[in-house]
Amino acid sequence: MEKIIIFDTTLRDGEQAPGASLNPQQKLEIAFALEKLGVDVIEAGFPIASSGDFQAVKNISAKIKKSAICGLARCLKPDIIAAHKALRGAGHPRIHLFLATSKIHLKYKFKKAEDEILTLAKDAIRIARKLCPDIEFSPEDATRSERDFIYRIVEMAINEGARTINIPDTVGYSYPQEIYSLITDIRNNVSNIEKAVLAIHCHDDLGLSTANSLSAILAGARQVHCTINGIGERAGNAALEEVVMALKTRKDVFGDFFTQINTKEIYRTSRLVSNLTDFVVPPNKAIVGRNAFRHESGIHQDAVLKKRSTYEIMDPHDVGISSSQLVLGKHSGRHAFGDRLKHMGFNLGQKQLNQAFTRFKDVADKKKDIYDDDLRIIVQDEIRLIRPVWKLESFEVASGTKIKPYASVILDKKGKLLSGSSGGDGPVDACFKALEKITNFKAKLEDFRLEAVTSGKDALGQVSLKLKVSGLIVNGRGSSTDIVEAAVRAYIDAVNKLET
Ligand SMILES: [Zn+2]
Repeated sequence: MEKIIIFDTTLRDGEQAPGASLNPQQKLEIAFALEKLGVDVIEAGFPIASSGDFQAVKNISAKIKKSAICGLARCLKPDIIAAHKALRGAGHPRIHLFLATSKIHLKYKFKKAEDEILTLAKDAIRIARKLCPDIEFSPEDATRSERDFIYRIVEMAINEGARTINIPDTVGYSYPQEIYSLITDIRNNVSNIEKAVLAIHCHDDLGLSTANSLSAILAGARQVHCTINGIGERAGNAALEEVVMALKTRKDVFGDFFTQINTKEIYRTSRLVSNLTDFVVPPNKAIVGRNAFRHESGIHQDAVLKKRSTYEIMDPHDVGISSSQLVLGKHSGRHAFGDRLKHMGFNLGQKQLNQAFTRFKDVADKKKDIYDDDLRIIVQDEIRLIRPVWKLESFEVASGTKIKPYASVILDKKGKLLSGSSGGDGPVDACFKALEKITNFKAKLEDFRLEAVTSGKDALGQVSLKLKVSGLIVNGRGSSTDIVEAAVRAYIDAVNKLET
């Protein structure tokens, strides 16, 4: 059996998705989840891009021991130096260099000839190779590049010591047969190709990223770039869960391959990434969507009860979806709470654990049974911001068919209590107007969504919203058994992001 190396770029390409910005603490939390999931390489960021990215790669390098940690760099000395510095603490560091090779990029982006590109790449790989033994090189926009130029640059990169050659379909333009012949041609025309691992990096602009990645494997690629939930630039990247489960499910085709992914961690990781990036997973999303294992048609339901495989090709337990397990109630102590979170894969510091426990007690007072999904939401609310400026102290609201809705809210701003009240079109609107008075942000509500986290009439409700404040869009999330409170918390979460 041959191993397929899983290279996860959720924290780099995934985070480039418009509107997905993660702070270093959140990135570390995702890195822990990826390590637990069993990914071989975590691309943790682009260290030269910003001080936040540098810090995130540095933190992750210091804390993650099992997975290799990769930093992205252009073929420029300062990029390579920054990546090397950020990766210093890693047990297994990797520098990922990229340089565009397609005519369109050469002509319009660089205004450079092929030979100049070749020299740039060669010099960069030499510098990087002196600092780090594990180098990956990507000819960017490979699927739209001239074959002969790809062969030349790949051969040179391997000669200079690159261990992995990644072939990116940067703009999501290719299709499975084309990817198959591209990988095959590279294997047949690059004399030293056996000295490197071939990798594939596909985007989903035409909805073909998973299919293209699988096709590359059949042609000889042994590393796949992917992201959790398929997030990434534009339409996103190949989804890790799809590639991994396709390999696992279609043993008849992919029986010669295996990955080191613990598939039972897929669902949990998917939800964590969704919550921290504020990207809701569509209900019909393959593998991790809410409806991915639901059967609506009576005929299907009946057949599944008789024999599961009539309409189910995978077992939901294999991806970590279990019928919500009862875990804790209001009498559960701090110890049981902490243990459960550890089991679920969270690594909270004492202060965050205390905050989360206080929140858990509040929720448990109103909701009898607390399930894993509830717990996940509670904890994720608490780790969203390290030091929030605004905190909810209390609120009151009156509404009904015969009265005009009215709300008063008290917030804690760094230890000082501030209050405000207002009428509105409904209880949520009244609260938001009161919040606007207290925080002094002129905010326009751009989007508002309410979802039930678990089932039952005492289910935890989660509100996701978008506020537009002087041209800037910020996301907020909040949860509570009371949907007005969930909305208030989401608003405060968004406002806190404006303060950082
Ligand atoms: Zn990409």
